[in-house]
Amino acid sequence: METNRSAGPPGKPGRGISRRALLIGGGAAAVGTAALAVDDIRRVWWRVPGVEKPRKAGELDYTPARWIAASEANWRRADRPDDYGVDRVIIHVTQGSYASAVRVFQDPAHQAATHYIVRQNGRVTQMIRELDVAYHAGNRSFNERSIGIEHEGFVDRPQDFTATMYESSARLTAAICERYGIPVDREHIIGHVEVPGTDHTDPGPHWDWPRYMKLVRAASTGGSRAS
Ligand SMILES: [Zn+2]
Repeated sequence: METNRSAGPPGKPGRGISRRALLIGGGAAAVGTAALAVDDIRRVWWRVPGVEKPRKAGELDYTPARWIAASEANWRRADRPDDYGVDRVIIHVTQGSYASAVRVFQDPAHQAATHYIVRQNGRVTQMIRELDVAYHAGNRSFNERSIGIEHEGFVDRPQDFTATMYESSARLTAAICERYGIPVDREHIIGHVEVPGTDHTDPGPHWDWPRYMKLVRAASTGGSRAS
């Protein structure tokens, strides 16, 4: 769970649209578009105001999930992976019930939310599209590069981390890793506690990382497997 307001929408414009639009405009005027790397053009194209990937309300990135929209105050519109590469999955624990997690993610005052919540019964809820930046890591660059997954329970109650939850979450993480080519290792699948600068401790000492990683590897069909 994320409560650090400094990671939320600070009232400053996102680093993307206006600055990059200005940059490409100035650059084009001064030296011509040939000076821009092909990769820059590919990334900048989607940032031009009014140009966005089509999206439909309620659309899911992970088919087994159900959709409940988070408040738009708790995430930022983006076009990942074209504007920001996605190379991390960040594991959280809700420190409360599933219902309370949904409630705070729908609350604009909370200023934080994850893309997914996995319940103790294994059900998966998606609340933010993966192409958008969710405020969940308490670190701007890690928000921009990651998918956040909450798990229903408390860090000091190992019994909350059910076998069904581990298996369901592992399938979700494996699917995310395959979609973005993220290596299935502990450098790229991390706990909130491992995000630089965070004061959060989740998922805590009872989260069974060896068990979880084994399940993620088992759920992977190969191709992005590492160490
Ligand atoms: Zn967290």
